[in-house]
Amino acid sequence: MSSVERVHKYLTKDLTVRAAAVVATRVVEEMQATQNSFPISTVAVGRSMVASLLMASHLKNKQELSVFIQGSGPLSQVFAEASFEGKVRGVSSHPHLEMPIEHEKILVAPAIGIGLLTITHHLPIGGAPHRGTVELATSEIGDDIAYYLQQSHQIGSVVSLGVHVNTFGKVEAAGGILIELMPGHTEETVNAIEARVKKAKPISTRILEGATAEDLIKDYLGDFELIEMDHNYPIEYSCRCTAERVKRSVGLLGLEELDSTISKAEELEVSCEFCGRRYVLTVDDLKEVRAEVYKQSLN
Ligand SMILES: [Zn+2]
Repeated sequence: MSSVERVHKYLTKDLTVRAAAVVATRVVEEMQATQNSFPISTVAVGRSMVASLLMASHLKNKQELSVFIQGSGPLSQVFAEASFEGKVRGVSSHPHLEMPIEHEKILVAPAIGIGLLTITHHLPIGGAPHRGTVELATSEIGDDIAYYLQQSHQIGSVVSLGVHVNTFGKVEAAGGILIELMPGHTEETVNAIEARVKKAKPISTRILEGATAEDLIKDYLGDFELIEMDHNYPIEYSCRCTAERVKRSVGLLGLEELDSTISKAEELEVSCEFCGRRYVLTVDDLKEVRAEVYKQSLN
């Protein structure tokens, strides 16, 4: 298996179906190791990372896309974002949530509960982001993305996402496929894809067996003549956190908490929740944050 993972994109020769597939084991593994996340968060965040990589591969240079799930369940929020160029990151509100495992299956839906899925498409600097929100359909993430594409873009699709963690919580397989029906597709095309979907093994099983992105595509679109589109960006776990962003998040502690830290004249060490990078805020930094929070409290 090649060590460079990237999103592979295809079109059927008649241009009525487009597809993207990725094996993303390494980047999901890196997220898990960085956050030391437990299986339920690893699987939910991993699926969201795969979905955002697949959807972002259809954007343009320097554009990004995020998947944000707000649910009533104990996992609460799941967030992932990816760029056209294959940079991806993700996190949930509760990386260390523990849930009962039934028949060795990690059940994402009960952890997420009912709620909303928001997809945001960020344009390069200057453009206002496009945002679409739908209710969660099944809370398994793949079906929810398909429901979003239908509701917001009138695109019929197959979205299959898979993350497998072993009994030690380590990621052994992660990846997915996104198939979208474009204008002009025929009934035969839909039937052929549906027949393949019925027969397909779970994505994570296929990746554990050693399947590549090309193999996943063949599982679903083996009946079609395909053209591969150029998309040569290795995927990478990447965080764009900065000291400024961290300061903003520290402001959320509120005036009382900030005053108490400042009065102890202690530095505050904060880690980025996505990548674990550590930032040290001096007392002067904290005073600056406090002044900003105070100013906003007057508005
Ligand atoms: Zn970071």
